[in-house]
Amino acid sequence: MEHLNISNLSAYYRQLIVNKEFLVKAVDKVSLNLMEGEVLGVVGESGCGKSTLARAVMMNIIPPLEYIGGRITLTTRGGNVLELNKLTRNDLKKMVWGKHVAIVPQDAMSALMPTLKIKRIAYDIVRSHDDSVDYSTALEALRNRLTSLGLSERVADMYPFELSGGMGQRTVIAMATLLSPEVLIVDEPTSALDVLSQKIVLKTLMDLMKRKYVDSMMFISHDIATVRQVASRIAVMYAGKIVEVAPTEEILQNPLHPYTKGLMESIASLEPEVRMRGIKYIPGQPPSLINPPSGCRFADRCSYAMDICRREEPALVEVSPDHSVACWLHIRR
Ligand code: SF4
Ligand code: MG
Repeated sequence: MEHLNISNLSAYYRQLIVNKEFLVKAVDKVSLNLMEGEVLGVVGESGCGKSTLARAVMMNIIPPLEYIGGRITLTTRGGNVLELNKLTRNDLKKMVWGKHVAIVPQDAMSALMPTLKIKRIAYDIVRSHDDSVDYSTALEALRNRLTSLGLSERVADMYPFELSGGMGQRTVIAMATLLSPEVLIVDEPTSALDVLSQKIVLKTLMDLMKRKYVDSMMFISHDIATVRQVASRIAVMYAGKIVEVAPTEEILQNPLHPYTKGLMESIASLEPEVRMRGIKYIPGQPPSLINPPSGCRFADRCSYAMDICRREEPALVEVSPDHSVACWLHIRR
């Protein structure tokens, strides 16, 4: 069953620079899908549009971000199809967010109200989707969820600042998925954590899937070494575009896009510093998303670039079963 289908999604930032308006094409005609039971990893260096993609998929569009076009359909467990891009913000809040698709944003922990206990924050989250739920029902649901994810139910009585980084992140994950949404989007869930906490958070995410508290997950990270541990499929994002998608093993062993190849070489290094820099050791920089080049957006950094690469944009094409790539080297003309 396909839980999420994203088709030609574009979301741009409107920016005013010295009284002139510019559009930053952060998410540009992105198509992806998410199947029941899968973890889709979305990788790419910072600034490539990953976090914007997360917001756009939720249709959580706040200026200066603008929805430009595209379709996002979510199929519920009951088989209802919701077209998110057609719903008002109010409907999304009441009917969709938290219930069918939830997000754990980057730095979620630091965004929590420091003066409220976890149980109160969780109650507010539940109430925002269903105002008939009483406090004791919500509290019981929270305690059950915490313990089934290996956290102490005492966490409910704590303030956000009393939780360590890893425990805080797991608590945020538990709260975001309290209503068991079909789809969970996590944005850099382990980036700020030490290695041990990272492992525990990854395990919590896998437990969510195993226990069917969520049915499918989009795991966004700049760190492909982390993504490969949890993702069944990986999508590589570059300068607002998806440039390659394939099952994890396939993309690790047979990367086709020159950018993906660069990413793979960076994880081959065991030195954490090289891994942190990731793709940066490929000479050059991503293009400005204000006026991206008309052809392939990787052309300026690509050692295989041909004439056509600067003239025409390569579409994302399935070149073998389940393996798609947007590169003129692999597309028959
Ligand atoms: Fe390189 Fe051309 Fe492929 Fe772009 S389309 S990655 S420039 S070979
Ligand atoms: Mg980000």
